[in-house]
Amino acid sequence: MSRLALLGGDPVRTTPLPVDRGLGRPERDAALRVLDRGVLSQFLGEDHPDFYGGPEVRAAEQEFAAAFGVAHAVSTNSATTGLQTALGACGVGPGDEVIVSPFTMSASAATIVLQHAVPVFADIDPRTYCLDPSSVRRCLTRRTRAIVAVDIFGQPAHWDELRAIAHASGLLIVEDAAQAAYATYRDERAGSLGNVGVLSLNYHKIIQAGEGGMLLTRDPEIAKRAQLIRNHGEVVAEMSGLADLTNIVGSNYRLTEVQAAIARAQLRRLPSLFELRASLARHLADRLRRLPHIHPPELDEHATSTYYLFAVRLDVEALGVSRATVARALAAEGVPFEEGYVRPIYLQAMYQRRLALGRSGCPWNCPHYDGQVSYEAGICPVAERMWRDELLVAALGAPPQTTDDMDDVARAFEKVMDALPALREWEGRGHTASSAAGRA
Ligand SMILES: *Cc1c(COP(=O)(O)O)cnc(C)c1O
Repeated sequence: MSRLALLGGDPVRTTPLPVDRGLGRPERDAALRVLDRGVLSQFLGEDHPDFYGGPEVRAAEQEFAAAFGVAHAVSTNSATTGLQTALGACGVGPGDEVIVSPFTMSASAATIVLQHAVPVFADIDPRTYCLDPSSVRRCLTRRTRAIVAVDIFGQPAHWDELRAIAHASGLLIVEDAAQAAYATYRDERAGSLGNVGVLSLNYHKIIQAGEGGMLLTRDPEIAKRAQLIRNHGEVVAEMSGLADLTNIVGSNYRLTEVQAAIARAQLRRLPSLFELRASLARHLADRLRRLPHIHPPELDEHATSTYYLFAVRLDVEALGVSRATVARALAAEGVPFEEGYVRPIYLQAMYQRRLALGRSGCPWNCPHYDGQVSYEAGICPVAERMWRDELLVAALGAPPQTTDDMDDVARAFEKVMDALPALREWEGRGHTASSAAGRA
């Protein structure tokens, strides 16, 4: 095999992997349809049919509900506000604990704090990076109210086990499916796997409308409560006939008609997009699996994935070189991978200093909360190891990328594996690739 680009050889690629935001004629037509009609949002925060939004919003909700096999969809202006709406609709509030992964985008946990509840971080499974059910079990207390299960990198969490825990302990599960739109667990779609699930329509995600979120549920009561939380619900609470007014402090989390119209066009692309992404990622994973000390994504046996991020775990001890050096060598081949995904969330200053809502330390230092939660370094050793030493991630496999592009990625890894002795020597000569671990 040829000499590594890092050591002066020719790179596998000289052009970056192609990126396309997946917008075309249907999205353009959808946006123009709304502009021609001239009503960019049709929500009213009062007892009126438009309390539920305009025609595009309502059609989008019906189409998402049908595509994901649930009775109800409630759109929001982001997945973050969707998660907060979902937690509020589930009754999460002051004094409650909610179990969540620390190895996810910050909003999976921050939305718990925004409900004045306390996030409790359970560790992740080192094969799938989703919540480790045995760690979740150890986090249960009498204050636990819900679990936020994140389908991280696009693969559904360990739902059989999580549902069994929730069932045994009377908990609700909020599914953060922001990265997983259309993945499956057994025969159900991600987003429909918990009591309530949330998709993201942020422009980085599988399908997009610039910004946006879609809450999915089979439970009519959760759907109704979510509609109120999304849109100034306290104004219409009495008219709504809702018995339980807990958390019905409405905000404005409304999606616009333009975004809803674009989301509908994007939804039509989703089935074929999902198949294409999955087949490219599986092609790459099959090639990488032949290499020693390299672990491409492994899914729960019942799951399929969107491969929102393609995660590669390195057995760094066996490799004898650091992850930073591997990343540097791959980047030199024209195949950049990021080190570590995210720093475990509890290491953020907000959790370390316990300073979130107000000056007195709410929700931790709060008369309603009588628990003791730890955010010390070391509480989730697997998440910390993935962040610090072992995981590489890259956004790969979206069209217009092809199997040829995936073959280039595989070739870059093969070159690095073939050159391990040279890389060890390179490190031994005092070269250290500085680690860029972590998106904040
Ligand atoms: C992107 C993301 C979110 C937040 O989505 P927004 O629509 O940007 O608010 C939440 N959770 C996870 C896991 C995400 O990847």
